[in-house]
Amino acid sequence: MKAKLCNLVRFVRFSWRPSSSVLGGMLIAAISLSPPTHGQDKKRSGSEDVTVVGERKVPDDYFSGWREYRSEHFVVYSNLLRGIAGGLTERLEKFRAIELASLTAQPVVLPGRIRVIAAAASSRFAELARDQYQVGSGPRCQTTGRTCADLTQLPAFQTTRGLPPQFFLTSDMEKGCSRDLMYSAGYFVSRLGEPTILIPVSGLLAHSEVLAHQLAHYLASVFFLNPPPWFVEGFAAFVQTIGGLPLDNPPRSGSHDQRGERIVNAAVGLAAPGFVVALCSDWVPAQKLLTWNGEELPARPGRFHAQSWLLYHWLWNQRSKQLAKFQSLLASAQDWASAWREAFPQFNPDEPGALQALDDSLESHRSRPKAAYYRTQAQADERYTSEEISPAEVHTLWLDARYSAQPVPRHNPDWLRSELHQLLLEEPLQPLAVAWRAELDQKPALELLRKATDKWPDNWQAWLLRGDAAEAPEEKGAAYQKAVKLNADSALAQERMALFLATKGNPMEALPFAKQALLVAPWSASATATLAVVDAALEQCDEAFAMQQRARRLSVHGELLKQLAEVERRCGASSRRE
Ligand SMILES: [Zn+2]
Repeated sequence: MKAKLCNLVRFVRFSWRPSSSVLGGMLIAAISLSPPTHGQDKKRSGSEDVTVVGERKVPDDYFSGWREYRSEHFVVYSNLLRGIAGGLTERLEKFRAIELASLTAQPVVLPGRIRVIAAAASSRFAELARDQYQVGSGPRCQTTGRTCADLTQLPAFQTTRGLPPQFFLTSDMEKGCSRDLMYSAGYFVSRLGEPTILIPVSGLLAHSEVLAHQLAHYLASVFFLNPPPWFVEGFAAFVQTIGGLPLDNPPRSGSHDQRGERIVNAAVGLAAPGFVVALCSDWVPAQKLLTWNGEELPARPGRFHAQSWLLYHWLWNQRSKQLAKFQSLLASAQDWASAWREAFPQFNPDEPGALQALDDSLESHRSRPKAAYYRTQAQADERYTSEEISPAEVHTLWLDARYSAQPVPRHNPDWLRSELHQLLLEEPLQPLAVAWRAELDQKPALELLRKATDKWPDNWQAWLLRGDAAEAPEEKGAAYQKAVKLNADSALAQERMALFLATKGNPMEALPFAKQALLVAPWSASATATLAVVDAALEQCDEAFAMQQRARRLSVHGELLKQLAEVERRCGASSRRE
């Protein structure tokens, strides 16, 4: 049994092996900052800070009392009690370390910080937490190895049995092992390119499986490029069981034979009872699952998520070599539909009956999944610092989340302009709002952004946006330098610095910034295209073409990448080849 486990683990865990020359332990070159040429001797004056017409406003109460918790790999923004938010930050570090160690064959250093918005559940949050899924365990859902029939016959909750455990609300206790074990959360990339997890917390503690699931979404976006929704959710559910409650694994009824551990805890790949129950009465044919767009029907939430878990779990246990191949093709940015056909030719959707054969295989796994699982130990630095953040900053955070968590974030919703207006009445020089509003109005923002950098010289967003707005090369370069220095975790700041240097005739200086941008955000089409430009400027046209092709595949929303035109200009028309 043990040998089999090891083999499976070896097949599926993959080496972190970037296909390009991106990773080379590059460190950002020390930057000597030349001061910007503007705004050095301007006096600050509140009366100048008028960007929109209207009475100055105070932010909504909801945005007061938030703090920022900063650890090695996370920045958590929260209005939860300090002890709870701090504990959540520690758990995030711990799960990140375990998930990374569980998924990679060798130790891997991933630079960059993940933003987390963890707030008390509210109607404001409901629309942002689009990822709705069932956890595999709960206070009354902790027995493994049971069939659908066993699990659906559990006795109803008795309200007379004394006080609930300290950390669970009665509502959680009442959920039991049923399809009601649904949670919602979210993962998105912000407008300024920051990976962001959104956790609504009801009660006193965020469910650890929910945290582990969202972290898996981040890791999947690092390891696999443009994976399909079923894979994204199946992978996350497969990994999330490291955060599950301990599962009781009793001997089969009528026997004293103990199969496996008596108590199973904190492992990847568990067939947790919540998943089994979710699939008892509702499942999705493979043909529908493979082409799922990632949205659940409100009437049947979690349905595709549960089936995604089943497919991933079955593949991992029964087709491990093929799954490993599929994953490595996804890692190399091959489009998923052709990767699927290549890795699983027997389940080619074009072949009559092939997907029916897959459904038949999943059917027996659904009613009683046979599963191997594994666990990996890892050390994490769980220390954090914390400080207050202003209500206007929280409003900005929330506004960006509301925009960026949309399925297609480039769509400008009707509320956007009035929210930006409201925010500017609260804080007239808020840099993101200033730049965004100017973009919508197609007006220049440079003067206001200069004032913003005067007012908040440590605000990296203000410097980044000023760099974008500036025309004069000295001002532009100095502003980007400052943004990178203030926030080396920002892929966008690194990328802009690289593009600026490459197009100003300094491609050698641009290279470390371009590489760092892609290390921090390997999912970014724009960072990939920027490296293509730098390669082209260095006359490395083969590398430039490879990066250009990768950028096109990453460009899911069909963004036009101006950078690609630059590659063609430097390396010629052959860059059109695919
Ligand atoms: Zn998910």
